[in-house]
Amino acid sequence: MIRIKHICFLLLFLFSFSTLVAQDNTKEKEAIEKLINDAVVDYMDSQYDKALETSKQALMKSFAIDDNLLIAQSYNTIGVIFNECSDSKKAIEFYEKALTYAQKENNDILFNWIYSNLGSVYYFNKIDVNKGIVYYKKSLFYAEKIKDTVQIEYTKLNLASAYFAIKKYDLGNEQINAVREQILKNDNQESKLSLNLLMGIYSSNTNKKLLAEQHFFTAQKIAIDNGLDSYLINIYENLVNHYKLHNESKNVTIYQAKLDSLSKVVYSNEKLDGLKKAANQIELDEYKIQLERIEKVNEEHQKNLKDSKLIVILFLVILIVLLLLLLTLYKNIKLREQANLELLISNEALKEAKEKAEEASKLKSQFVSTITHELRTPLYGVIGITNIILDEHKELGNSPHLKSLKFSAKYLLSLVNDILQMNKIEEKRIVLENLIFNLTDEITTIKNSVEYIADKNNDKFTVEIDTAIPEFLIGDKLRLSQIIMNLVSNALKFTKNGEVSLTADLKKVENKTYFIEFKVKDTGIGIAKEDQEKIFDKFVQIERKEEDYQGTGLGLSIVSRLVNLFDSEIHLESEENVGTTFFFTIGFEYDEEKSKEIINNIVVDLSDNHQLYNILVVEDNKINQMVTKKIIQNTNMACTIVDDGYAAMVAIEREHFDLILMDINMPLINGFETTRKIREKGIKTPIIALTAFDKQEVTEEALAAGMNDIMVKPFEPSKLFQVINNNIKNKKSVD
Ligand code: ADP
Repeated sequence: MIRIKHICFLLLFLFSFSTLVAQDNTKEKEAIEKLINDAVVDYMDSQYDKALETSKQALMKSFAIDDNLLIAQSYNTIGVIFNECSDSKKAIEFYEKALTYAQKENNDILFNWIYSNLGSVYYFNKIDVNKGIVYYKKSLFYAEKIKDTVQIEYTKLNLASAYFAIKKYDLGNEQINAVREQILKNDNQESKLSLNLLMGIYSSNTNKKLLAEQHFFTAQKIAIDNGLDSYLINIYENLVNHYKLHNESKNVTIYQAKLDSLSKVVYSNEKLDGLKKAANQIELDEYKIQLERIEKVNEEHQKNLKDSKLIVILFLVILIVLLLLLLTLYKNIKLREQANLELLISNEALKEAKEKAEEASKLKSQFVSTITHELRTPLYGVIGITNIILDEHKELGNSPHLKSLKFSAKYLLSLVNDILQMNKIEEKRIVLENLIFNLTDEITTIKNSVEYIADKNNDKFTVEIDTAIPEFLIGDKLRLSQIIMNLVSNALKFTKNGEVSLTADLKKVENKTYFIEFKVKDTGIGIAKEDQEKIFDKFVQIERKEEDYQGTGLGLSIVSRLVNLFDSEIHLESEENVGTTFFFTIGFEYDEEKSKEIINNIVVDLSDNHQLYNILVVEDNKINQMVTKKIIQNTNMACTIVDDGYAAMVAIEREHFDLILMDINMPLINGFETTRKIREKGIKTPIIALTAFDKQEVTEEALAAGMNDIMVKPFEPSKLFQVINNNIKNKKSVD
């Protein structure tokens, strides 16, 4: 075993280190550097406890300023001290720590020193020579990298020594040859001594006896001249080995004696050192514990650092995610804005289209309204004149032409009325009225008016009204009558020699609402399954081969829509050639108090109806003038006819009239305006509007103008008579 320049590493590293930190010479760093210097000095002085204490302080301070280079330095120093105190395990531990911190800074000088020290621990302490060689090689790599010639020399000499230890003489010699010239040129006696010693070993083992002795003696001379006793022991050991190898027992004895006597001196010193070391040991243990504590604190510190690093990373990740979210949000908003804009534009277009559609629909219904109105006026004339002819020429009563004319005119009128009503329903202009009515009375009226169809078709028509239904109900009797009338007349129309029944049953009572189920049942031709749905559509008529049933095809669609207005639905059950049943349920309010009041107010008119009244008719249409005049005269009332509003005002000035029948649509001055002027004069004569308009359409304006009632043309003569009578009587009772 050849110990070459072990301590020199430390010294060397000391000087190199000064240059290393020179650039960043803060006071704190200088202080630490000084501490490490002091530790090295103490170490050289074999005061290991002191050296350890000082290097421990250096380590703590290095941690405090978080300086990796100084931490690595401190650990390396501690490693050297432990190595010296024969605790190679601890030494390796500290060198490895030093390496970790050197790696953080990637410092080649430190790598060179630490690997060299590691190599020495493994080699000199006989732990693992091969591992020692690996570390020396690493150290050499960094020494060459930083071009440190002295380090290269020492490392190569150490490597050669290690190779010789495992008897790889040629590999060792290679190392020596690489540095020999350089060392011989220099003035470093220890290097020269080591070189000669190693060359001696190589020559001795490669059978160059004389050359070996030459090298050993050169080494011996340098050792004696420079008082390097520990080297001298080494030289004597190798000379003993050399002479043993070459069988020179005499020389073996000589050098063995020299070795023994020198060893005595050196070992007594070493013994002293050993004692010193033993004394220090106890204190060293103390320091070890303290060091461990520092280690722990450091580990904690590192862990915290790691944790906080983790937190920072986490924070950054969250921040990035948030930023991404923000970005998508922003993009979304932009997209939405764009979509909103597009929506706004399409909304505008839709609005325009809607307005246009509404305008078109309004125009359509106005058109329908005008046309039907215009049709009603001449129809009024046609029906009226037909009646007059039939009246005046009784002999024509059986004329098929005249009958046909009357039928056609009536059919046309009902078609016009149906269309008008459909139009109103579709425009949602129909609002149900809530008036008190007597259900039995209404149904009786219907029964009377359809009796002739029943007779014609030889049908038996029965009516059955549930006695639990109150006498007076509140609701729209006109619409109800219209529904029932339609269903009953259809039933009779499509039934020959059969039975038709109308029933009204009380189904349930909720609060004050009485739900009545109406059923119109016949034993007629029935409706095929496939037709049952569509008969409620507009203008649908099912082809009947046998007979031509006259109709408009609007009846049932109006019926079903009217039933809907009552918040109900119409249903049907039918079988061909067996019969048909239509049924629906409507809720009517019943209020006992209100009913009583109304019943009490009914004045029973027992007076003679055949009073002679003087009536003024204001009408521009000549045919209508004729028709109305005829009706009035038939009831034995006096009648004066004028063509327009102005003429009417003149007539009133001249003559007393009990009542005025006023057309609305007239040239020069219309019916409303004329009425207003009459009322302005303080004349209170009842005025009844005669109009082809729908009653609802004109009621408001007519009443506002001062009219008392409205009659829709064409009207039944009896109805006109009734209205005239009521209005004159009402006036009288007011007067
Ligand atoms: P129309 O005015 O032609 O009678 P509706 O809408 O009232 O029109 O009826 C439509 C069709 O439904 C009729 O053409 C008829 O074929 C059929 N229909 C209606 N009621 C009955 C019924 N009670 N029995 C048989 N068929 C009926």
